[in-house]
Amino acid sequence: MSDSVTHSRSEKITRFRRRSIIALGVALAVAMTPLVLANPRTSPAAVAAPAVAAVDDSQLNAGPPSRGGNYMHDADAPWVRPVPGKVTSVFGPRPVICTPAGCSNTTHDGIDLGSPCGTDIKAISPGRVTSASNAGSFGERVIIDHGSGLESIYGHMQTGSYRVSVGQLVKAGTIIGKVGMTGVATGCHLDLKIRTGAYIDPKPFLAFRGVTL
Ligand SMILES: [Zn+2]
Repeated sequence: MSDSVTHSRSEKITRFRRRSIIALGVALAVAMTPLVLANPRTSPAAVAAPAVAAVDDSQLNAGPPSRGGNYMHDADAPWVRPVPGKVTSVFGPRPVICTPAGCSNTTHDGIDLGSPCGTDIKAISPGRVTSASNAGSFGERVIIDHGSGLESIYGHMQTGSYRVSVGQLVKAGTIIGKVGMTGVATGCHLDLKIRTGAYIDPKPFLAFRGVTL
């Protein structure tokens, strides 16, 4: 009797210990689960996460369409006003202007700065001269490539006033020639154009860079 009671008690104690060990094991397993899932080497979800982040990064770098706001030209590049003088014709649609030399387009794809003939014209930013020649109705013209697809174009320059040649590197403020009225022009002025693939309005483009036209 006493043996069987003793036996029965020891069995109960053994069962209790087994249950405790199982319960402890389950508890440990549950407790460990988040740690295992959070480990990138063992969790497929965690491995996939960086690929999604990389796509987001590339979208951030793409930027909005060209309006001059965040154009990718060197952020540290200096910018200068090409000539003194008031804006005499803004960028955008305008009536056709005809002179003995021909007629202008219905869209003005640059901005006119009224300045006396003979006034020095400065490169607006560092770059390389890609053209210095006569361009018909646009007169004597210099084109500067600033890299990253950005160009500045200077029209109606004085005949024989070029101070730069094709291939030459220029700094912001390098004098490239003089204001004139060659081509279709009714007075002395600089027609400044800025092209980032398409022509854009130089006024907001340069305003964003601290240059007021
Ligand atoms: Zn113009």
